[in-house]
Amino acid sequence: MARFVFITGGVVSSLGKGLASAALGALLQARGYTVRLRKLDPYLNVDPGTMSPFEHGEVFVTDDGAETDLDLGHYERFTGVAARGTDSVSSGRIYSNVLEKERRGDYLGKTIQVIPHVTNEIKDFIDVGADEVDFMLCEIGGTVGDIEGLPFFEAIRQFAQEKPRGQCLFMHLTLLPYIKASGELKTKPTQHSVKELRSIGLAPDILVCRSEGPIPKKEREKLALFCNVRADAVIAAQDLKSIYEAPLAYHAEGLDQAVLDAFAISPAPRPDLTRWEDVVDRIRAPEGEVRVAVVGKYTQLEDAYKSIAEALTHGGMANRVKVRAEWIDSETFDREDVAPHLEGFHAILVPGGFGERGTEGKIKAAQYAREHKVPYLGICLGMQMAVIEAARNTADLKDAASEEFADIEAVETDDFTPVVYHLKEWVKGNAKVTRKKTDAKGGTMRLGAYDAVLTEGSRVAEVYGTTSIEERHRHRYEVDIRFREQLEDQGLCFSGMSPDGRLPEIVEWSDHPWFIGVQFHPELKSKPFAPHPLFADFVRAAKDQSRLV
Ligand code: GLN
Repeated sequence: MARFVFITGGVVSSLGKGLASAALGALLQARGYTVRLRKLDPYLNVDPGTMSPFEHGEVFVTDDGAETDLDLGHYERFTGVAARGTDSVSSGRIYSNVLEKERRGDYLGKTIQVIPHVTNEIKDFIDVGADEVDFMLCEIGGTVGDIEGLPFFEAIRQFAQEKPRGQCLFMHLTLLPYIKASGELKTKPTQHSVKELRSIGLAPDILVCRSEGPIPKKEREKLALFCNVRADAVIAAQDLKSIYEAPLAYHAEGLDQAVLDAFAISPAPRPDLTRWEDVVDRIRAPEGEVRVAVVGKYTQLEDAYKSIAEALTHGGMANRVKVRAEWIDSETFDREDVAPHLEGFHAILVPGGFGERGTEGKIKAAQYAREHKVPYLGICLGMQMAVIEAARNTADLKDAASEEFADIEAVETDDFTPVVYHLKEWVKGNAKVTRKKTDAKGGTMRLGAYDAVLTEGSRVAEVYGTTSIEERHRHRYEVDIRFREQLEDQGLCFSGMSPDGRLPEIVEWSDHPWFIGVQFHPELKSKPFAPHPLFADFVRAAKDQSRLV
């Protein structure tokens, strides 16, 4: 049976709980254990699928087609374990399950209450698939003391109580502020946060304290005494230059040892950290720099394109260069000329997105990349815009557009064919999926892992080193296969197709040094120790370009 580690946070938000959880997962793997990481989010949305990227950051999609919190991306990047839909849950999902059961009469007329009905639902979620791994790591979103988090804290308290003794461990992340005037690290907020936890029946076994610098012995002892943890279970989490330094930094601080000690695992298996030593070596000693322009819409919030930023970093690591990604708002090109903004970049990436705003700018960016022979990677909407650009400017299809933005009335008359259309029926495995344009917004897209077949001899087949791939999707619209011949005549090859040959998955310009558009999201599967081949080769192309510019 799995051992459970519950990770909570206090004092302030954004302390890097997700990162600490992911790094601990990586360290337990380095000791030979199997792990799975899970996120419990107190917000009331059923899933993050309908939340604005400006507000919540990127939506991370799993192979099984769930739209989840971006922390699951961290988990995958650090452990290589593919996340599942059952690894992410919110209050909204929990309550909606409970209410559905209530409507079905499953509770046999009982009065439905937070305890036990909501807490039982949470506990069931935590336990799903726990027998498959040695360690299940569950991160609770938000901060202790938040009203909406209470059912989750209560549920993990009950959960630990119901499991055999020694099966569960609580790890609490806090902040030690440094007061310049007195030159001191302050432990009081941490003490209060632990007091808050204890008032709801939870006693942390391990304290992870974020601080700017090292924690002196005196403060460690004070924290141990006042917070009732062992001195060697006070772990300092200092600011790092790169998140990928976290596993080694936490190991040096003794986090994995403290966890094994708390579970009384002795002797502790020796860790093999070579994977992380190599990752850190590649980050610390780049042999050059490439500049990549990311022309998107959600450029104000770094987290909106989290996986893309990370995948570019991984691509840099594969080529031993630092990738400097610069985010350009595509709406800029509605007003200004593209060239002065894109000149000097070694590559251009147009990421995914929704809605019309900024799309003409993306089309211009694709045109610039095609005409100036600058490496281009178009992801999802970035591929659709590249196809529209090709249709309008090379295939003489002046009206080419996406049904996503086209005038509905025009779409409904038969004489308009948008090139990118709303897909209403497709095949998943052996089953047919159907959707209507009027379906509710949440979860109506082509989501999750789908196979694609690549054309022998194409650039993508060479990049992947295979002709059959599986990648993750999240979109409603598709490039219309009816335009294939017309576009291929111009040199835009449809080099990746769905296995039934109906849905274009990849396009590439044959007479261009590196121009690839993909309908899926390769960034979701990239890892620092296994950079995604498309990102690795895109950065290689950027590196070649940097020698020309
Ligand atoms: N909005 C486009 C669609 O739904 C692209 C989505 C995306 O880029 N993820 O097809």
